[in-house]
Amino acid sequence: MFNDLNKKVAVITGGSKGIGNAIALRFAQEKMNVVINYHSDEAGAQAAVDEIRENGGDAVAVKADVSTETGVKALLQAAIDNFGGLDVWVNNAGMEIQTPTHKITLEEWNKVIAINMTGVFLGAKEALNYWLDNDRTGNIINMSSVHQQIPWPTFASYATAKGGVKLFTETIAMEYAPKGIRVNNIAPGAINTPINAEKFADKAQYEQTQSMIPMLKIGDPEDVADAAVWLASDQAKYVTGTTLFVDGGMTLYAAFQDGKG
Ligand code: NAD
Repeated sequence: MFNDLNKKVAVITGGSKGIGNAIALRFAQEKMNVVINYHSDEAGAQAAVDEIRENGGDAVAVKADVSTETGVKALLQAAIDNFGGLDVWVNNAGMEIQTPTHKITLEEWNKVIAINMTGVFLGAKEALNYWLDNDRTGNIINMSSVHQQIPWPTFASYATAKGGVKLFTETIAMEYAPKGIRVNNIAPGAINTPINAEKFADKAQYEQTQSMIPMLKIGDPEDVADAAVWLASDQAKYVTGTTLFVDGGMTLYAAFQDGKG
């Protein structure tokens, strides 16, 4: 338990499913009040709200596109209107498009950058302005990826966006540290969520991914949520500008496992 989180208010983007959903449910275990953003899956977001309320927490579901200013403003407003403020902003929403780089259209490129990277900027800007205007502190958690570090052919737009999120996190962590505002990144490895559903439904692809992980296990969304709740809490009060890898060791170069090379 992280007692300091009791009654704190969080916005979680892309919270209707996958990692965002697990973070919403984990935050609710700490009796936090949660704004669950969704883009299209209203039923998923509402199910999370219901589960949180049944367990003694509180939440609202808010439809918004994180790649727009109106979208992120609506999320902040929902936090203020429903729960009286904001303490934690989780930029979790993301998506990927696989295309050989010489074939990706400008429209596809812009979409991936807009949601995965510009959306992080817009969400962070909204949260920062709220805390600065109200002489408050808070913390931001950005959902990056092991692909902020590992190059990923045919996913150049995604890897570029996540690399951008890494340096954005580090830059604003430094910029706002004197104000008591913390900003951190979580870099998941391969996690069993809808973004990977098609790939992991194929046994061969599932096993191939597994073999790239020293712990030989695909992660669960709850593994990432456990990292997020710690970063959000005062137990991480001296932690800012870092990336916490939650990847079963994927970034350790598993190909070197047997001592060759
Ligand atoms: P997911 O597809 O289950 O969830 C992504 C969420 O983002 C969905 O709820 C989706 O509706 C939302 N979203 C997409 N576009 C949006 C928009 N414009 N506005 C608002 N919401 C939008 O995938 P996930 O695995 O839970 O991914 C969550 C985050 O974790 C993403 O940033 C992803 O890049 C990152 N990540 C995931 C993995 C993994 O293996 N699952 C690995 C590394 C990083």
